[in-house]
Amino acid sequence: MKLLDLSQPVFDGCPNCPVHPRVQARITASHQRDNWHMEELSLASHTGSHIDAPLHKIAGGKSISDYPLQSFVATAVVADFRNISPDTPIDAKLLDSHIHTSIEDAVVLLATGWGDQRASDDNWHFHSPYLSPDGAAWLVSKKARAVGIDHYSIGGSRDPDNCRTHEIILGAGLWVLEDLRFPEEIFALAASQPLQLWALPINFSGFSGSFCRPVIALS
Ligand SMILES: [Zn+2]
Repeated sequence: MKLLDLSQPVFDGCPNCPVHPRVQARITASHQRDNWHMEELSLASHTGSHIDAPLHKIAGGKSISDYPLQSFVATAVVADFRNISPDTPIDAKLLDSHIHTSIEDAVVLLATGWGDQRASDDNWHFHSPYLSPDGAAWLVSKKARAVGIDHYSIGGSRDPDNCRTHEIILGAGLWVLEDLRFPEEIFALAASQPLQLWALPINFSGFSGSFCRPVIALS
């Protein structure tokens, strides 16, 4: 089996949602001093490639541990939006013109190309294309299982759109996969065969989300 890695690296000070805590990794033991090596982490559960469970936006919503593990293994449909401009809302019309297959029970992966621009700067923080509220409603109406994007926020950074998009997706019980990166190979593969995504979260109990290691498993 070959694995195609869709994850972003996590490291001290790595790019992140600007309103989340700074990612810190401190060396607490070193071979030179302790004969062991270890890191202590300070980061949000929504750091690096991660899953949002409904609880992230919906009071009383499902937590990450309320889903059976099997939920995070699914058919993936890649929608290629790499040619759209910064700040563009991905709405129902755009989705309809880019997705020509059933997305029922699938994870729809929105590829904007912004995973390759991941940096702690204003452009990456505030000018990504994003899923609009009406695009979110379209995905729900087509019965998708989940939606992913190669940026830290599925709904971008501006309100009310960001809140509405999260409310619509998470309110319907779908989960969200954020801060992905799409390797070039995925586009040719997506055109020629169904893809299987594995995005297993950490076994966090009752959390609103979890980092994960999203991969496409190729047999
Ligand atoms: Zn999140």
